[in-house]
Amino acid sequence: MNRKHFIRTLALGTSAGLISMKMNTLNKLADTKSTSKMPVLFLGHGSPMNAIEENEFVQGFRNISKEIEPPKAILCVSAHWETNGTFVTAMDNPRTIHDFGGFPQALFDVQYPAPGSPKLAEQTQELLLPTDVHLDDKWGLDHGAWSVIKHLYPDAKVPVVQLSLDRTKGPEYHYELAKQLRKLREKGVLIVGSGNMVHNLRRVAWDKLNATYAYDWAEQAHSVMKDRILDGNHRDLIEYQKQGTAFQLSIPTPEHYLPLLYSLSLQDKGEDIKVFNDEPVAGSLYMTSVKIG
Ligand code: ZN
Repeated sequence: MNRKHFIRTLALGTSAGLISMKMNTLNKLADTKSTSKMPVLFLGHGSPMNAIEENEFVQGFRNISKEIEPPKAILCVSAHWETNGTFVTAMDNPRTIHDFGGFPQALFDVQYPAPGSPKLAEQTQELLLPTDVHLDDKWGLDHGAWSVIKHLYPDAKVPVVQLSLDRTKGPEYHYELAKQLRKLREKGVLIVGSGNMVHNLRRVAWDKLNATYAYDWAEQAHSVMKDRILDGNHRDLIEYQKQGTAFQLSIPTPEHYLPLLYSLSLQDKGEDIKVFNDEPVAGSLYMTSVKIG
């Protein structure tokens, strides 16, 4: 295809408005000084009590932050913000949301006063075009975000923005959507998926709440997931609904699993990947976390 034809095809195939918005986004991002490419994290958050307990997982979160240059901002995809359509938090000062019940007062007393970043929210909105992403001024930081990010950045100085999960969409959609966030890695933004790759609260072994114990099916699914993560075979992970009973029991609902797909989708070819906090809890949960890059 000659150049003229190529440009004409491009102009016909994409609306001028879309191109101009994309250009604006790139220009805006260009304002921010480029940094070396930031890693991407998937953090297994487990019980909200990890926010205030001292344990190996909390230590794992702290250790991983030491391997990462200080980010300019964090974009978090949390299991605990499902919406119809896609939203991004755009307020200056997101509130700390205590979206759970039946826990000690000390957990409700936790505040994580990280600022928001309306600028990052707008950049995210534009990068995700043509998906219509709504700027949100009501949500804040749910415990999927703050219960883990507080261990990485306890002084709450790094701005945090949350991106919601569109509950009307399937895994392939989420995996593809996340790819559009790639540019943020070069702008000092740490992208964090927060969920649990094995997460079945109806099957929790209540007598083994604090034990590193897994049911056979959880162990089996975890082992396959880990192999696929390490060998970069994302296809089976995207098509998790086709992987049999162990996967079905491990992922009874998608919201804790999908943040993993967001993180994996941002892995560049041949990029390093490291698994940490790789332990089960209470039979039906795995805290397995991933650092890409
Ligand atoms: Zn959760």
